[in-house]
Amino acid sequence: MTEPLFREDAYLTQVEAVLVTLDPRGLVLDRTIFYPQGGGQPGDRGELLFDDGSRVEIVDTLYGPDRANIVHVTAEGTREPTPGAKLIARIDWTLRYRRMRAHTALHLLTAVLPFPVTGGSVGESEGRLDFDSGEASLDKAEIAERLNGLIGRNAPVRSRWISDDELAANPGLVKTMSVKPPTGAGRVRLVEVEGIDLQPCGGTHVALTGEIGQAVVTQIEKKGRINRRVRIALSQNAA
Ligand SMILES: [Zn+2]
Repeated sequence: MTEPLFREDAYLTQVEAVLVTLDPRGLVLDRTIFYPQGGGQPGDRGELLFDDGSRVEIVDTLYGPDRANIVHVTAEGTREPTPGAKLIARIDWTLRYRRMRAHTALHLLTAVLPFPVTGGSVGESEGRLDFDSGEASLDKAEIAERLNGLIGRNAPVRSRWISDDELAANPGLVKTMSVKPPTGAGRVRLVEVEGIDLQPCGGTHVALTGEIGQAVVTQIEKKGRINRRVRIALSQNAA
């Protein structure tokens, strides 16, 4: 079982850990700050620096089959270290922070466009969501203006846990139809952007919406009779 430290603090950039087991796809640690691919957010990249001086590059991060273990995917041809070895795990922070800003911006986009979400993806300083927006006409400039208004509020972003039963009693919390929150573990993580958005999410977010920086709506694409794909991009300079 890998302890997921990124859940309680998304700003950790490196941590000491121990290699527990080797997986066919990579390395399993006792604890990690590497985010595993899920909920539309890609897995982290980075490096593991072992006590013996060796360095292993991590090209992706994934959940193991039971989601208890987190697998740090190594590049092909990597020499396998010995379980029990101590190391420092360090993520590619530039990449992760861009994803945190884009991911948080998508939460705000669901507040600007309060329609059911059918899909989405987080990139580096950009992202997209698919909405069942019906016959509503969507305007790029208007959406961007409202989105930047929410970013400018510099609202705090917090997470807390609720029980599966509480979530079942409040189905309105689930905006994303295609990605149901993982229930069955007894509890679900709720992410709140104060006064703006509240929904279950396991991803990594910035602490204040002002960190997102200026956003633009780059494209609105028709994906079906009532479905629209909205793409946003962020300026490279975070606040
Ligand atoms: Zn999220």
